[in-house]
Order: sequence, then C-alpha cells, then structure tokens
Amino acid sequence: MTELSQRIAEQMGTGPHVPQQHSPEPPRVHGPRVTVARTSGMVRDASPRSQQEHLDDLVRRYTARTPTSKRIAQRYRRVLADSRAVVGFRSGTKEMLYPLAGRRASGARLEDVDGNEYVDITMGFGVLLFGHEPDFVTEAVREHLSRGIQLGPRTIETGEAAELLAELTGLERVAFANSGTEANSAAIRLARAATGRDKIVTFLGAYHGHADNVLGRTSGSGPHQVTVPVSRGVPQAAVSDLLVLDYGSDTALETIARHADDIAAVVVEPVQSRHPSLQPVEFVRKLRELTRRHGIVLLFDEMLTGFRPAPRGAQELYGVTPDLATYGKLLGGGFPIGAIAGRADIMDGVDGGFWSYGDDSYPPADTTFFGGTYIQHPVSMVAARAVLTHLKEHSPHLQERLNARTAELATTLNGFFEAEEYPLRMSHFGSQFRFEHRADMELLYHHLMVRGVHVWEWRNFFLSTAHSDGDLEFVADAVRDSLRELRSAGFFPGGRPVTPAP
Ligand code: PLP
Repeated sequence: MTELSQRIAEQMGTGPHVPQQHSPEPPRVHGPRVTVARTSGMVRDASPRSQQEHLDDLVRRYTARTPTSKRIAQRYRRVLADSRAVVGFRSGTKEMLYPLAGRRASGARLEDVDGNEYVDITMGFGVLLFGHEPDFVTEAVREHLSRGIQLGPRTIETGEAAELLAELTGLERVAFANSGTEANSAAIRLARAATGRDKIVTFLGAYHGHADNVLGRTSGSGPHQVTVPVSRGVPQAAVSDLLVLDYGSDTALETIARHADDIAAVVVEPVQSRHPSLQPVEFVRKLRELTRRHGIVLLFDEMLTGFRPAPRGAQELYGVTPDLATYGKLLGGGFPIGAIAGRADIMDGVDGGFWSYGDDSYPPADTTFFGGTYIQHPVSMVAARAVLTHLKEHSPHLQERLNARTAELATTLNGFFEAEEYPLRMSHFGSQFRFEHRADMELLYHHLMVRGVHVWEWRNFFLSTAHSDGDLEFVADAVRDSLRELRSAGFFPGGRPVTPAP
C-alpha cells in the first residue's frame, strides 16, 4: 500500500471511537473501523490519487444534494443526543454522516427536505411491509382520531388484535407492549417466573433490544469464557445470568444441556438480521427438542421475521413452535408496538389466567410484574388490528409474491456481482435482505443515496408490497452503477475490464 492510499485508509478508519448503542443491531461498541482502501489487495491496481479524488467528489455530490439535512443535523447536535446520527463515524466520510431529513413519504418513495426523491429500501427499519401510508392503516387511525385518542378505556380493537394475532401465529395468548425491547424484557421475566430459574441463553450475532439483561457478549475462551457487558453503563450483575452461545453449533447445544437445570429461557432470533443466510434448521429443531425435554422456555424473537416471510414467521421455516414468541415492528403499521404471545400457562403470568363471571372462578395462576402507561395504546391497537386484518385476508399470497420478488432481485444482483467479480452477495430471508461483503463497501451506501436509494445506518434492507418492478429495477441499476463507478476510481479491481462511469 502506498503512502497516499495508507493515508486515505487512515482518514477513513481512524476517527474517534464512538459508542454505538440503541441500535437494531448487536451494539458493536468500539467496533472495528474497516476502510475501503484498507482491505488487503483492494487497491492492487488502483491509483490512490484517483481514490482520493473520487472520495472528494462523492462528498461534494452528496452534500450538494442534501444540504438542508446536513444543516439540521448540525443545528441541533449540541442539544439533541442522537445515537443514530453518529453510527458509522469515520473521519474520512464524516462530511456525509447525517440522517436524511424527510418531507413526505408515500408507497415505496420518500422525499427529503431538499426535494430529492428516493426509492426507500430502509422501510422504517422493517416496519413498513405495506409501504409508507398504507390506506387501510391510515383510514383506521384517522377514524379513531376523529373520536379522540381514548387513552384510559379499553378499545375493542385491542381484543380483536389479540385474537387475530393468536389466529395467525397459532399461539394461545397475547399481551401487548410498546416496543420490541419491552416485549422481550417481559417475555424473559415471564419465562423466569414460570420456571423459577434465572439463566438466559442468547446467540452471538442476535439482537434483542436494549434492555440491560441482553446486552452481554462473551469474553475469554474455553473454561474461562464469561459474559461481560457490551458497553459502559451496563452493570456486570445485569449479564451475570446470561450465556451467549454460537448460533447453530453443537457446542451450544452441549452447553445448554449442561446448564439445563438453571436455564429459564433460550432466546433465539431465528434468522439474524445481520446474517440472513444463516438458517440452521436442524439446529433449531434440536434446540426445540432439548428445551422441551428440560422444561426450558424456547423464545423466538420474531421482531423482524414475524409475518414478513410467512404468516407464522420463522416458525414456518423451521417447522417449530416456540413456547413464547415476541413481535413488533410491522405489527404496529408504523406506530410503536411490541407483543408477547405463547403458551397460556406461561402467559398467565401476566394476569393470573382465565376466570368467568357468575361462578366461583378466580385468576388461578401466580403472576409476575407487567404493565406500563402506554401498553395497549389505542392508536397502536387500531393500527395493529388493521395490519392483522389485512394479513389475514392476503396471506400467504402476499408474502409468497414479495419473497419471490426479493429472490429475483437477489438473483439479478448476485449474477452481476459474480460476472464482474465484485466481492459481495445479496443475501435475503423473505423480503429482508443485506449485502454481505468480503471487503469494506461503505462507499457503496453513500453512492446509493446519491443515486436516490434510501439506505440507513445499519444496512438491513426491506422490500414492501408497495415496491413496483420499476422500483426494483431502479435499485438494481443504482447498485450496478455505484459499483462500476467505484471500480473506475480504483476500488474493487476485478477480472474484467473496467468501464469508466460516465
Ligand atoms: N429484536 C429484534 C430481532 C430486533 O431487530 C429489534 C429491533 O430492531 C428488537 C428486538 C428491539 O425492538 P425495538 O427497537 O422496537 O425495541
């Protein structure tokens, strides 16, 4: 690596380490700052000067296109503590690091405050399965608001949403919360209450929200392996009952068997958003067997996989019914929500279970703590009922069609990556996808934004039923054009001749 390319690498990779918490990813506090030019062999035939010129030009184009978004980010930075606004900080690209400020959104399209239009593949971080502003949600919410937000009394839609959720998932009872984090915290507490045990198992690479008791990672190896907090502020005591194991490994199953008598729940993100191609069917089936045998609660965190690939989410992929499952995201149609569903005997920890009027029945089960001012928020409940009704009417055709369209996009792009020897693959599960790189590709995402494809900081992407064939072609063109332009500037040299971008 020449001195100049080394300098570019350093510029792009040696910014101050910024803690990255409160993300929909496993927080990678003090994570590595890999750089475009740093990956070995990447700049083999390239002129480092052309890379630097390219970066300068990209910064110019990016910031000229979105000056108001940038101004807003800077204007409020002193007062607004915003973890998302600093995800991926690097000195070399910091001029392009600001959240897009939106003006309006409809279907698969977004317009920013500078009047630029985007095809959105962020889709509300996985929330907007039906696109921005789906009529059936907007109408239901509008109708409710026309009668005042009824916070306090129960809305009938709450019971209807619970019934629909149970029907679609095949699970027995349902409780609502305000977020995925809240749903997982409550589910873990219910599992601990039901089993009388304390230990929780999660898997490396999964994300379960930002409650202290799931913010652990392993440190050390073999018999010296321990769980430590992922960041400052999380006390050691909060993760002392957490075991973080390798997803899909026999060792994980052995460890669970060894600690079985102390384990309350095994929490699984069935298809991890960071590794959509990791779908260890046999492992999950064995896990079901093992947990059943030892009376351990198997908890599926279906925050992203719920309803999206199939009505029964990842449970359908694995052919496995968990004891509890948690939901959120798309369930609320854009409004804050979380839900816990599962076996009645465990869910009875919320309210003591079933009883009737006019006889001598009473809530039979012991309860644990569950509550919150905004649980069953009327607007979220109305929206959830609308979402679930729509899903009931259109599943599984809706998911099958969207999955097939995502697979088509993957086939098109992966064919291109292979043919032109770019070191990445588009992997997907249902309509959720991600580019898995063998090299650092941060600049690709900036290029996509410049070309009008809305990507977000954690780089998990989603298609919606509102995306047209034209939208998908637009995304594919933007990916191809971005990579070709990067190659013409000396990045990712491949086996085929480089065609300079226009
Ligand atoms: N679990 C998974 C698998 C998630 O992807 C997320 C959020 O992205 C959560 C839990 C946390 O949900 P929330 O951000 O609504 O608290």
